Amino acid sequence: MIKAVYPGTFDPVTNGHLDILTRAAELFDEVIVAIADDNNKETLFTSAERLALLQTEAAGNPKIKVMVFSGLTVEFARRQGARALIRGLRAMSDYEYELQLAMMNKKFAPEIETVFLMAQVEYSFVSSSAIKWASSLRGRIEDFVPAQVERALREKYRLS
Ligand code: ADP
Repeated sequence: MIKAVYPGTFDPVTNGHLDILTRAAELFDEVIVAIADDNNKETLFTSAERLALLQTEAAGNPKIKVMVFSGLTVEFARRQGARALIRGLRAMSDYEYELQLAMMNKKFAPEIETVFLMAQVEYSFVSSSAIKWASSLRGRIEDFVPAQVERALREKYRLS
């Protein structure tokens, strides 16, 4: 039984995240989506809102669990008995940050491997921040996020 943790902010979850999540669930016996709590980042959605959105999206897949965590990601992963951390890579620009994070995590928890999955081409330019920016300006985001996320964004920005 090999468990993996897919950590992130998911503010909000996009189709790019969901693609990585579905593919990770095919590789591992269980994938826990670990939503970073509000502590050190300004987020548009509270952790409870991000949890609810992800839970709805993951509801059909019994291999996926969604949780909110705070503190070090590797400590959370250890407590869950996970062997791997999943991260998605889009462009070269992700690489440096992700490499640094993976090296730090390896130092803290040598028994946990970071596994990178490459973003699908159609989502390789999709980020939560670009989605928020486009949505706030009434841009069309329906190809990049689930319908409930689009609705939640519209409510946040009070667009109708
Ligand atoms: P964080 O604040 O930890 O970077 P994010 O929610 O932005 O949290 O991203 C979580 C993970 O998902 C990161 O590894 C990120 O590179 C990956 N990711 C984000 N958007 C996409 C996408 N469109 N395709 C594939 N992976 C993605």
